[in-house]
Amino acid sequence: MRLILLGAPGAGKGTVAKLLTKLDGSVQISTGDILRGAVQAGTDLGKQAKAYMDRGDLVPDDLILGIMEKRLQEPDCQKGFLLDGFPRTIPQAEALKGMLAKLKIRLDMAVNLNVPREVILDRLTTRRTCENPKCQAIYNVKSMPPKVAGKCDKCGSPVVQRADETEEAISKRLDTYNDKTAPLIGFYKKEGLLFDVNATSSDVVVNEIKKKLGQ
Ligand code: ADP
Ligand code: ZN
Repeated sequence: MRLILLGAPGAGKGTVAKLLTKLDGSVQISTGDILRGAVQAGTDLGKQAKAYMDRGDLVPDDLILGIMEKRLQEPDCQKGFLLDGFPRTIPQAEALKGMLAKLKIRLDMAVNLNVPREVILDRLTTRRTCENPKCQAIYNVKSMPPKVAGKCDKCGSPVVQRADETEEAISKRLDTYNDKTAPLIGFYKKEGLLFDVNATSSDVVVNEIKKKLGQ
């Protein structure tokens, strides 16, 4: 399948993407994971992106577009992909449209994960992430803690709160989402690709997507 996952920070894009990869071998492409990996590895990209990310601001479009143009042409994308965290602005959505047309790739749909604001805030403050850049497994101190506190079940690395998960950065990320990313809902509606789902449960979202794709 070839999907865009839209939704506020904490809406569950990453969780849903990971569940969907198990269905048909489509790959999850998370620009947030790519950027955090680059920050940890100390690459040029990471150095350029870090300050924006820590503040809860978006990284400039040209950096992201450079990454995505290459990423979409890697062979593992042929089975399908789940775009998690991209596009995030109207210019990114326009650029993606151009890239896909050039590569002759058609999207199935853009799924918008709808979650009430209280749920989002609660999820973001209790979320913890494995700090190993190759793993980045997601936990929640309330609903899904690691088996051993502070240690990733999958790889044993420390499970930490992200730098952009302070209250201040969270509130900034939600504002950024409302200003820059929420307009994509209208964009994909016009494109005839929008599928809006109530996303309080990730399993329900996955089932809705399956039904919609006729699988
Ligand atoms: P969340 O969806 O929980 O906010 P992500 O892991 O998707 O988190 O992204 C973390 C940060 O990485 C964002 O706050 C932003 O700074 C940067 N980022 C990720 N994807 C993009 C993108 N497509 N365009 C610009 N910045 C991005
Ligand atoms: Zn891990």
